[in-house]
Amino acid sequence: MVVMKFGGSSVGDSDRIKNVCDIIKSKLDEKPVVVLSAMKGITDKLIDTAKAAASGEDVSKELKELREKHNSTLKELGLEGGLVDEQLEGYNKVVDKIFEMKLTNPELMDEVQSYGERMSVRIVAAYLSKIGIKAKAFDAFDIGMITTPDYGKAEPLPDTEEKIAMELAKVKEIPVVTGFIGKDTAGNITTMGRGGSDYTAAILGAALGDVTEIWTDVNGILTADPRVVKKARTIDKVSFNEASELAYFGARVLHPKTIWPAIKKNLAVKVLNSFEPSNKGTTIVGKVEKTKDIIKAIACKKGITLIHIVSTRMLMAYGFLSRIFSVFEDYKKSIDMVSTSEVSVSLTVDDDADLDKIKEDLEGVADVEIFKDKSIVSVVGEGMSNVPGVSGRIFSALGKENVNVEVISQGAYEINVSFIVDKKDADKAVKVLHKEFFD
Ligand code: ADP
Ligand code: ASP
Ligand code: MG
Repeated sequence: MVVMKFGGSSVGDSDRIKNVCDIIKSKLDEKPVVVLSAMKGITDKLIDTAKAAASGEDVSKELKELREKHNSTLKELGLEGGLVDEQLEGYNKVVDKIFEMKLTNPELMDEVQSYGERMSVRIVAAYLSKIGIKAKAFDAFDIGMITTPDYGKAEPLPDTEEKIAMELAKVKEIPVVTGFIGKDTAGNITTMGRGGSDYTAAILGAALGDVTEIWTDVNGILTADPRVVKKARTIDKVSFNEASELAYFGARVLHPKTIWPAIKKNLAVKVLNSFEPSNKGTTIVGKVEKTKDIIKAIACKKGITLIHIVSTRMLMAYGFLSRIFSVFEDYKKSIDMVSTSEVSVSLTVDDDADLDKIKEDLEGVADVEIFKDKSIVSVVGEGMSNVPGVSGRIFSALGKENVNVEVISQGAYEINVSFIVDKKDADKAVKVLHKEFFD
């Protein structure tokens, strides 16, 4: 079997959907299980419309546009008009509720976002059936995707993979499953965070013990984001560790958690291009042979907040770090990057929720300064670990081009060097380093 996940741009309109169905058709002998994102732009629209309703705006135009987008796709595919009416109604209802309450919350926002995937799977399954491939749409929670109630960052419960394997074994048709969403044990809808369909696919891959294919709009994992570096090129093979670091530090092509289920069972994940299906893309595996490349890729994560924390009680230095991290833990705040000295810590977070409260709690033991609009740039590659002078090359290349670097951090495995720059310098830093290492 093979799990094939298609992202939003791969199912962006009726032509793209036809293309995806052709790709699925060409792999029928591998018994595909299909995982889908919402159609391109739909998740954003579902969110923006709900937020506008929460602030009391009239959103009837937006609701109509959502309905028309899905209905016109159905029409262009020659499918029955009312196919996703139930989902559109469900969405309208939750938006009405938000409008009446004039507020929203993480639980409601997860339900809001779930409708995109719930519609795309129904459309694609119906079209597959229409062209003679027996397929059936599933909401992931109906085939065992039960998660923690952490809205916006839900995690599957420990026995999820076994349940999914059992449920999928009963399905005779080609399953077309919603990415991104699940339900908690109370029956509320949850999501795994933006881009989470990749994670769903990998969970299904692990459940079935098979390869997961992430079909997207570029030829695999490239040496940098091709939107920033035009000359970026495909990397044939990367290791789980390298792919994890790249995804975690901003290579949007993979959701950061995609590799977790694969690592546990040592299963390959491939990244392929639905716009160019014959391209070999990238294969992610446990270990890759050494190549002459010292580094594999450069990633960049924007919208970062940098926090400098300086101890006000130097004599308590031995308990300082644990005090600080426990405050972040209290607010379930994940930290991206850390750099420490005996009495100070610099760290970064990627969302500003609760920052004021965190600052207040920390101020008993430390002086706290917060800087917004920063970016983390990361240079990643296992080849770095036994080549001296890579950091020197990185920072002298940046220095020559006057890119100001603020905080530097190197992981213990020596497979990445990360540093902070101002948001305005981020693309320039990526370009300079791509030129240094790949041109
Ligand atoms: P999908 O809709 O298929 O999930 P995404 O937009 O989430 O697609 O991810 C694909 C995008 O990731 C690409 O279009 C590209 O701009 C971006 N990207 C960022 N870094 C990289 C990289 N190193 N390699 C490939 N793509 C990258
Ligand atoms: N549709 C969701 C998003 O736009 C999940 C995904 O595409 O993976 O974030
Ligand atoms: Mg994605």
